[in-house]
Amino acid sequence: MTPRPDAYRFFQAAVSRVEDVTPSFRRFTFRSEDLAGYGDPGFDQRIKVVFPRPGAGLDAMPTGEEWYPTWRAMPEDARPPFRTYTTRAVRHDACEVDIDMVVHEALGPASEWILGAGVGDEVLILGPTRSMTGVNYGIDFVPPARTERLLLAGDETAAPALAAILEQLPPEARGTVVLEVPHEGDTSYLPEHPGFEYRVACRSGGSRGDHLVGAVQEAAAELAPEGRGAQVEEIDVDHDVLWEVPRTAKGGAALKSAALYAWLAGEAGAITRLRRHLVTELGVDRRAVAFMGYWRLGRSEN
Ligand SMILES: Cc1cc2nc3c(=O)[nH]c(=O)nc-3n(C[C@H](O)[C@H](O)[C@H](O)COP(=O)(O)OP(=O)(O)OC[C@H]3O[C@@H](n4cnc5c(N)ncnc54)[C@H](O)[C@@H]3O)c2cc1C
Repeated sequence: MTPRPDAYRFFQAAVSRVEDVTPSFRRFTFRSEDLAGYGDPGFDQRIKVVFPRPGAGLDAMPTGEEWYPTWRAMPEDARPPFRTYTTRAVRHDACEVDIDMVVHEALGPASEWILGAGVGDEVLILGPTRSMTGVNYGIDFVPPARTERLLLAGDETAAPALAAILEQLPPEARGTVVLEVPHEGDTSYLPEHPGFEYRVACRSGGSRGDHLVGAVQEAAAELAPEGRGAQVEEIDVDHDVLWEVPRTAKGGAALKSAALYAWLAGEAGAITRLRRHLVTELGVDRRAVAFMGYWRLGRSEN
């Protein structure tokens, strides 16, 4: 089902504040009159941020309905790059949107921008509009209406989505949250939810994905109902995108009720290991787990 054309659009935005929330999470507050029309549907709303090419502005970015094929047809060295992020907060009265971006080595256009950007720098955000109605396919947290326990897990790139989900869950929600971050100082990033057990650790000493995979395996063994293992089609995460979000044809949750619903996002290699473990070894029902490869080590987003 394709979203209505007025559901998403490009918003002009300029940095109005930069705050290092923890060593790895840099909060960019964007402000512009245009952002008064930015939608706030909540949870893990994914968006695209278009960055200016060094030395060039954003004027070359096609923003009409056919923006993507037009962008693809442009010479590679003329295309403004874009990357996927999560809306962290929206304040309509102030015409502001926050996006928490991970500060890491300048390996790509987003990380390069993050390290150098300051107040006044402009981007375009492809995000939801306030007039959006119906199913929002940019939200991938789609738990069954009756879910006993939630397992929310990811690495630092998924932390803004985990934070937004935790903030918006009702106080009676119950579950476990697993997060792996680069630095000890990042372990305080997530907001507290009274119904969740937190298994948050930094990876210093261990290699990438070790805590995420180990802690999710432990939590799933405690929380998942017994099931029968099923074969999974292997996905080559160096060539394909790992993105399995269970939904009905109408976009709703694939199940009406579940003992456990899991939302797992982060580096694609780690999420692949978890997919294999949960589905094949534990026999968790695939209609109750979202597996999302947010990025791939050694590979640029586009
Ligand atoms: C739905 C979704 C939501 C996301 N939300 C957020 C968010 O809110 N905040 C956020 O910071 N990120 C988020 N990400 C991840 C972000 O899109 C990627 O990290 C992106 O690749 C960064 O772009 P880049 O230009 O820095 O690197 P790219 O040009 O894409 O890649 C260049 C190199 O950098 C490496 N790389 C990419 N990301 C990282 C990283 N985090 N650490 C170390 N190496 C990396 C790649 O493996 C590659 O080798 C999200 C991704 C998805 C799919």
